[in-house]
Amino acid sequence: MITHDRADFINEQEIEGILASCQSPEPARVRELLVKAREMRGLSMEDVAYLSYVESPELLAEIFAAAKGIKEEIYGTRLVLFAPLYISNRCSNECTYCAFRATNTALVRRTLTQEEIAEETRILIRQGHKRILMVAGEALPQQGFQYILDSIATIYDTRVGPGEIRRVNVNLAPQTVERFQQLKGAGIGTFQLFQETYHRPTYAEVHLKGPKRDYDWRTTAFDRAMEAGIDDVGIGVLFGLYHWRFEILAMMQHIRHLEEKFGVGPHTISFPRMEPASGSDIASKPPHEVSDGDFLKMVAIMRLAVPYTGMIMSTRETADVRRATLELGISQISAGSRTDPGGYTEGEAGRSGGQFQLGDHRSIEEVVTDVVSLGFLPSFCTACYRTGRTGHDFMDLAKPGEIKYHCHPNALSTFQEYLCDYASPEAKAAGEELISIELQHMDGKQTACALPMLNKVRGGQHDIFV
Ligand code: SAM
Ligand code: SF4
Repeated sequence: MITHDRADFINEQEIEGILASCQSPEPARVRELLVKAREMRGLSMEDVAYLSYVESPELLAEIFAAAKGIKEEIYGTRLVLFAPLYISNRCSNECTYCAFRATNTALVRRTLTQEEIAEETRILIRQGHKRILMVAGEALPQQGFQYILDSIATIYDTRVGPGEIRRVNVNLAPQTVERFQQLKGAGIGTFQLFQETYHRPTYAEVHLKGPKRDYDWRTTAFDRAMEAGIDDVGIGVLFGLYHWRFEILAMMQHIRHLEEKFGVGPHTISFPRMEPASGSDIASKPPHEVSDGDFLKMVAIMRLAVPYTGMIMSTRETADVRRATLELGISQISAGSRTDPGGYTEGEAGRSGGQFQLGDHRSIEEVVTDVVSLGFLPSFCTACYRTGRTGHDFMDLAKPGEIKYHCHPNALSTFQEYLCDYASPEAKAAGEELISIELQHMDGKQTACALPMLNKVRGGQHDIFV
């Protein structure tokens, strides 16, 4: 039995107290908070709670406009794309909302071999992906944790012509410091872990069996990751299990804790909303379902609250909801996803079931074409992590806005690489047009950096970044 800290930094009383005192938002106060938010130094828990109670369409429109402004200021038109790769759906836990839970017999269990992982990776490379989020249930095969390390190595080692995966992020169960060190050694980008719910009684109700029942072990996972030197961590809540207002304030406490203890907050926040899952009643009828309206409000408020933290939207959501959230602050999306191990190789007729129902079934090319038509610049950049610009270093670079001299040229060169290597003639034409518009909007310093990079890629070079 491993002993570990209690996650005292999640303080339910503080959250309840703040929520009780912020329920009648005055327009003048809301507008003051929006002025504060536009300074891009973030918001307090009280500010977040206060904005969460805004219902007036006029004030909501002002919140959305502020979120859009901040997103444009910090991220410009860039939108990072990635795909999940599920390597195993075996699990020793009993999470009532998940199809992978141990007692679900409606699912074919499968742990991919290294060759199968390589094949899935080759398919994603051929689609143009450069970033993978590797996902697994919480049950290791015979090789133990080495299986996870081998799988990461397999993804990095797989090549298709000049194509390769340049960043492997992972969504795995909480680990010990020692195993986090091994993950760091294996070259992971972000360690992503969703708390599911920060509300202890609800957490106990929905996690019936297995190591995941331990709330504190999960909630303190990022402390151990950071102790092990992983400074890019990704937080998230499974929205639908408990009140969304409680959850976003708890996320703010978690962020505050990491900033106080390690001097750096999470690299990303994800916003998974619960989707129907095979054999799960709760997943089809979430006890605290978040409406589309509240969902958009929440995304916008978090953009104001933590302006420099990447925000991720998966294909759980429909194309329409995803489009709306892009305006409000989402900076990364998945595309063309499958949530069943072997799903890219075997397609819809795959042998094992998915983890939950997807809302967006479009291919990466359809997603790229769509976001380009909306004026967003797809980015396949992985430079920060590979040049060591993570954690503090990333935040130092991001905060003064300097990132635009790195991220923007890198987004252009990696998108150009995608267009040259993987896009259909139509997608290529639309993409080239977007690149020329982007170039017109850049300042001299940015253009001087971006143009030579674009020319190198057009001349057949790969992996060009600053
Ligand atoms: N097994 C590990 C864990 O639970 O942390 C990592 C992988 S798990 C497959 C990834 C995430 O999927 C979970 O953290 C949960 O938030 C999400 N998930 C599970 N069931 C879901 C559902 N019905 N709808 C949407 N997301 C779901
Ligand atoms: Fe297992 Fe993760 Fe699904 Fe829970 S959410 S049943 S731990 S795969």
